[in-house]
Amino acid sequence: MKTDIEIARSIALKPIDEIANQAGIPVGSLEHHGKHIAKVDLSEIPSTPPSGKLILVTAITPTKAGIGKTTVSIGLALGMARLGKRAVVALREPSLGPCFGQKGGAAGGGYAQVLPMEKINLHFTGDFHAITSAHNMITALLDNYIYQNRNNPIDGLSEVLWRRVLDINDRALREVVTGLGGSVNGIPAESGFDITPASEIMAILCLATSLEDLRRRIENILLGYTKSGTPFTVKDLGVAGAITVLLLDALKPNLAQTTEHTPAFIHGGPFANIAHGCNSILATRMALAHSEYTITEAGFGADLGAEKFYNIKCRTAGLSPALTILVATLGGLKMHGGVDEKELKAPNVEGVRKGLANLDRHIENLGSFGQTVIVAFNRFATDSDEEIEVVRAHCASLGIGFAVNTAFSEGGAGALELAQLVVDTIGREPSKPLTFTYPLEASIEEKAQLLARKIYGARSITFSAKAKKQLARISTHGWDRFPICVAKTQYSFSEDPTAYGSVRDFDLEVRDVVINTGAEVIVLVLGTLMRMPGLPKSPQAQRIDFINGFIEGLS
Ligand code: ADP
Ligand code: MG
Repeated sequence: MKTDIEIARSIALKPIDEIANQAGIPVGSLEHHGKHIAKVDLSEIPSTPPSGKLILVTAITPTKAGIGKTTVSIGLALGMARLGKRAVVALREPSLGPCFGQKGGAAGGGYAQVLPMEKINLHFTGDFHAITSAHNMITALLDNYIYQNRNNPIDGLSEVLWRRVLDINDRALREVVTGLGGSVNGIPAESGFDITPASEIMAILCLATSLEDLRRRIENILLGYTKSGTPFTVKDLGVAGAITVLLLDALKPNLAQTTEHTPAFIHGGPFANIAHGCNSILATRMALAHSEYTITEAGFGADLGAEKFYNIKCRTAGLSPALTILVATLGGLKMHGGVDEKELKAPNVEGVRKGLANLDRHIENLGSFGQTVIVAFNRFATDSDEEIEVVRAHCASLGIGFAVNTAFSEGGAGALELAQLVVDTIGREPSKPLTFTYPLEASIEEKAQLLARKIYGARSITFSAKAKKQLARISTHGWDRFPICVAKTQYSFSEDPTAYGSVRDFDLEVRDVVINTGAEVIVLVLGTLMRMPGLPKSPQAQRIDFINGFIEGLS
């Protein structure tokens, strides 16, 4: 089979005006970025709740290669279109960190991609750069404030929380010292970089419900504390307007097309292990207003991505999905069944059977939100019928809808079974209104307890001394009404990335707490998770090149 980029290149793209027309978006609402990408004006989001049905695509606990949520989401949109349904996919924008690092691109795969994939995977419409600039602009303005007030006994800061971001995997930047080289260069201070998808500005852009809301949230960002202990925010710097101006274009959802020329909104990109993990509320609303079915993805496994999608995004936006699709692969199931990583491609019925415990945990968890769940089996070329039958029979025994999806190798034709199952299931038994894991009125500790026990299956969750100090501040300032956003490994229900399967009754510790008063979430950092990834020994960048006029190596 051809590589992703060869397939992408073989498809003659339609002008973006035609794609917009299909979605009922007038050309007057487009801001063109070349022939095949456009930003869409926010006036295309109606003030009344859109009538389209929302479908969440999530997955079992992933392997390093991913389970195929993006590929299945896009494939499903193609399958739905073949059934004559108006379906739109809403996805996140890829980050350059994983694209050049471990995972490669994030624009789907095979015959289920969003196009033009090179542009989407690389700089796209510049949203990530705008977010990076906005974030670091605040840092520069804050450093300047501290410098200008260095001799002021009242107005100075005693503690700075705000760091820097870059959309690159670079472990050497995790902890840095700035302001070295004498007093003309400012005041020496410890700082550090997170990857842009972990930036609070990214979370704000994705959770803002309007331009006004974006500005309000930017004003509220906590930067540090003054010498008298009061919170110091972007409002105190007096620059919320300037930062909003930097994000005016980035706030507009991006429209592109799928391999079968259906509309795709691609907007915002917080990771699901270090942030809340789904595309912007504005893009989802815009998609819902321009389709019968909006298909959207939440990052990593359902314990991270789907949980945050419901408890944070849907709660903030007043959304409630009609259906949740859990994607599973044999590779993933076998890994959870204890099969060695190098042996995942070889048939192993017993390994698959053992791995089903992971699938069951996710089905149970998703049910706790009141969601109707079906399983989409993402078929790889090496999968044996016998192994697939094990999964099908298991889902049948649970009364859970099951469909094999081959959109990767066949495009929309390979997603017809899944598309029909989706339409039938939503018609027959749509999800109930969302039940959240914790009420917003609970304290942060109570929220963490409820989440850890109900979703991760933990025995206990405790807070380090450092984290406890933050909790005290949170309750003093009334920030405990925010939802929690756990930053932890995506490879396990626990904080141990090697504990696959369906581990239970482990103990968790919140190592650190990050207060995001602009995004209105409290980030709980568990285990050794880094908010700035590193690069692997053989990064994808070694395979990316420009040969005979074509970009190679993006997958
Ligand atoms: P996720 O969204 O769950 O992280 P992706 O959809 O991005 O997963 O897929 C991860 C990688 O696996 C991509 O490189 C994609 O092209 C590839 N992939 C997905 N589904 C298949 C399949 N059925 N056969 C072969 N490769 C696949
Ligand atoms: Mg994905």
